[in-house]
Amino acid sequence: MNFKTDINFRKQTLVKLLISVQNHEEEIIKALYNDFKKSAFEAVVSETAYIVSELNHTIKNINKWAKPNMVLPSLLNFPSTDYIYKEPYGKVLIIAPWNYPYQLALCPLIAAVAAGNQVVVKPSELTPNTSRIVAKIISETFDENHVKCVEGGVEITQELLAQRWDYIFFTGSVAVGKIVAKAVAENLTPVTLELGGKNPCIIDATANLKLAAKRIVWGKFLNAGQTCIAPDYLLVSNKIKSDFIELIKKEIIDAYGENPETSPDFPRIINQENWNRLTEMLKGESILAGGKSNIQDYYLAPTLLDEPSLDSLVMKDEIFGPILPVLSFENEADLVSIISRYEKPLSLYIFSNDNPFAKKIIQNYSFGGGCINDTVVYFSNKRLPFGGVGHSGIGAYHGKLSFSTFTHYKAIVKRANWLDIPTRYAPYKGKLKSVKKLFKWLS
Ligand code: NAD
Repeated sequence: MNFKTDINFRKQTLVKLLISVQNHEEEIIKALYNDFKKSAFEAVVSETAYIVSELNHTIKNINKWAKPNMVLPSLLNFPSTDYIYKEPYGKVLIIAPWNYPYQLALCPLIAAVAAGNQVVVKPSELTPNTSRIVAKIISETFDENHVKCVEGGVEITQELLAQRWDYIFFTGSVAVGKIVAKAVAENLTPVTLELGGKNPCIIDATANLKLAAKRIVWGKFLNAGQTCIAPDYLLVSNKIKSDFIELIKKEIIDAYGENPETSPDFPRIINQENWNRLTEMLKGESILAGGKSNIQDYYLAPTLLDEPSLDSLVMKDEIFGPILPVLSFENEADLVSIISRYEKPLSLYIFSNDNPFAKKIIQNYSFGGGCINDTVVYFSNKRLPFGGVGHSGIGAYHGKLSFSTFTHYKAIVKRANWLDIPTRYAPYKGKLKSVKKLFKWLS
């Protein structure tokens, strides 16, 4: 077994992983339901099908991605042949969160294996059923010296972080992202941090309001709002605010019925701590829709809040649950004053048929990625980078970029010996003029 240099071995292992994930699909769907009542549809669309597609894409392209690339040489080094070698980092640690517990553990794993690394995966302790299947798939597919799954909570993660790694890929909260960043500083370990933020969603008066409401309700209440790229709060033009609220309310009913608690499509909050955190946010707020909760199975209805204060609990940090504050704006200055209160978000969404306005918004604000006239879906294009900026993250992945994330690009110049132009060697006396001329000619 030489996963470091043998591309065929890596490819065969990924094929083995593909067979295993396909064999275990039903178990994963059941585990996700048992962990927080995720529906089979959402489990397939946002977790299992995504992984199968990422595996197929990687298997198809691994030879092309992993082979050394010859690049045009520099005339300064004439004659030479110049290459980029793709070197695996070595020992990689992947730490996953609970909200897409299968996909966010396996997606980086696929890339880390494709790039030739030795990997430890630490899935989330908050989704024990799914984490168990992730561990089973890994132990069935890989030799322990190649890929290993370590289950456990905060203490185990801290023990892992105390060890020396060649790369760490972390997905989770900003707070724990900072802990990881401190831990990697000691050994200057390169790191990807896939974090969260407060994602604005702007709706101007020119937008197709009906479609906007449909796409926002889907993107926000998918996974019961426990999605890092879900719209966190709405910024609605005050010209259309009351009409738009009615459309959103109608879409919630169309999607989940009059009582979402009985809908087979609406998941639960992951645990009591998060349920408490979210229900606290509703206290004292003006509720336009929803608001009902049930501690028995950590249910919280899709909820709309009207104009919460910017100093309220709900507008303080990332919500990460099915609560959608509706704020209104009069002009662009209002948008700046609200959006700029927060750190750079992971996503930003703008619904508008005014193309120059949409373009201006995209250019004026810094954020990880986003959509014009939709939410969330930018995640699904493997040709787009997925990652935050500033406090919402460091680095990006998906598709070929995932392979690059786990690869050191090593530059090699292979010089020929049949010619050796002496200009660069000391003594330099009398050579400066011709060197300046050469640089001018080359630039
Ligand atoms: P989290 O940061 O609490 O946990 C993530 C991982 O870190 C878990 O495996 C956990 O065991 C470990 N961990 C928790 N506390 C730790 C500590 N004190 N020291 C060391 N390790 C610790 O995140 P979460 O609650 O699982 O996930 C929700 C967060 O993740 C949200 O903020 C969300 O925006 C973010 N997220 C980001 C992305 C992305 O791709 N950018 C995707 C999903 C979730």
